[in-house]
Amino acid sequence: MKKRVLISGGAGFIGSHLADHFLSKDYDVIVVDNFITGKPENIQHLLGNKNFKLIRHDITKPVKFSKKIDYILHFASPASPIDYLKLPIQTLKVGALGTYICLGITMAHKARLLLASTSEVYGDPLVHPQPESYWGNVNPIGPRGVYDEAKRYAEAITIAYHKVHKVQTRIARIFNTYGERMRLNDGRVVPNFIYQALKNKPITVYGKGDQTRSFCYVQDLVKGLYALLLSDIDTPVNLGNPAEMTILDFAKTIKRLTSSRSRIIYMPLPADDPKVRQPDIRLAKKALKWEPGISLDEGLKRTINWFSRNI
Ligand code: NAD
Ligand code: UDP
Repeated sequence: MKKRVLISGGAGFIGSHLADHFLSKDYDVIVVDNFITGKPENIQHLLGNKNFKLIRHDITKPVKFSKKIDYILHFASPASPIDYLKLPIQTLKVGALGTYICLGITMAHKARLLLASTSEVYGDPLVHPQPESYWGNVNPIGPRGVYDEAKRYAEAITIAYHKVHKVQTRIARIFNTYGERMRLNDGRVVPNFIYQALKNKPITVYGKGDQTRSFCYVQDLVKGLYALLLSDIDTPVNLGNPAEMTILDFAKTIKRLTSSRSRIIYMPLPADDPKVRQPDIRLAKKALKWEPGISLDEGLKRTINWFSRNI
């Protein structure tokens, strides 16, 4: 029997790649999205596909499905710091009420939920790299609190439903992911630097640029998410690329790959910006037999190509 998957936030960056992936594996795909940060262009190419359905809906409000749903991937949420700073209440609501609604659908359909959690549950981490056993260092009332605490709540309610109602749940702690279809103006470092470099405008490094991140190419992430969904691991699993670098080195990498004449300028570091971030992916390697396969240079070349065609 053909399986049906519901993707909340499926018109966003990662969600639209997930929709492509499931359609390529012959699933029926339903996307629920209110386009608060997503774009119709991300799923335009799927609209004629008989196995694809788009529902414009805010997932914090109840919704019913007559046909059996097998899997639910809850990806709806503003995800870039600029977006969630602009949309604090919507971010809290989609993490809390949105996850609650998705768990209700999961229960009603005896389905399985995969929650898109985040490395932000570790906050500004005091343990490095971050294993799943680390509880994190989050400022609940800081600017990032609306996102971090929404996701921490989402994890808590997901585990509670799993324990109390025996709902099948999976939790992915996703680390910085990049690739085609990121919004040019979403404010994250990848689109910012690529846009600035392609336009030969100054590349804006925040702080001294000595903070670190580890970037995962979206196709690698999608494979990890798929493996996690089909696995029997009901505790959180880190998914990301452990190749860590400073933001200053990242700026230089983008300059090199775009042959840009941009100069690097320094701007104030946003409040509570995590100083380091690197996933410990031993669990994913062992339990899912997954690890990223695309190097940063290769992933960035593909992403830069896409941005040059879409600017
Ligand atoms: P995105 O902003 O491109 O996609 C989010 C999608 O959710 C958008 O299409 C938006 O319109 C939709 N949405 C938001 N609120 C909604 C609501 N109430 N009802 C229906 N739709 C709603 O972001 P993304 O980078 O694709 O992130 C997707 C998910 O992955 C998010 O949950 C995010 O927290 C998580 N994540 C992403 C990253 C990353 O590096 N991109 C890292 C960690 C976690
Ligand atoms: N950053 C930067 N310049 C920019 C955008 C971001 O130096 O134009 C830095 C930001 O301060 C952070 C890192 O790049 O340290 C990653 O930022 P992003 O917004 O992509 O995601 P985060 O990992 O902070 O959630």
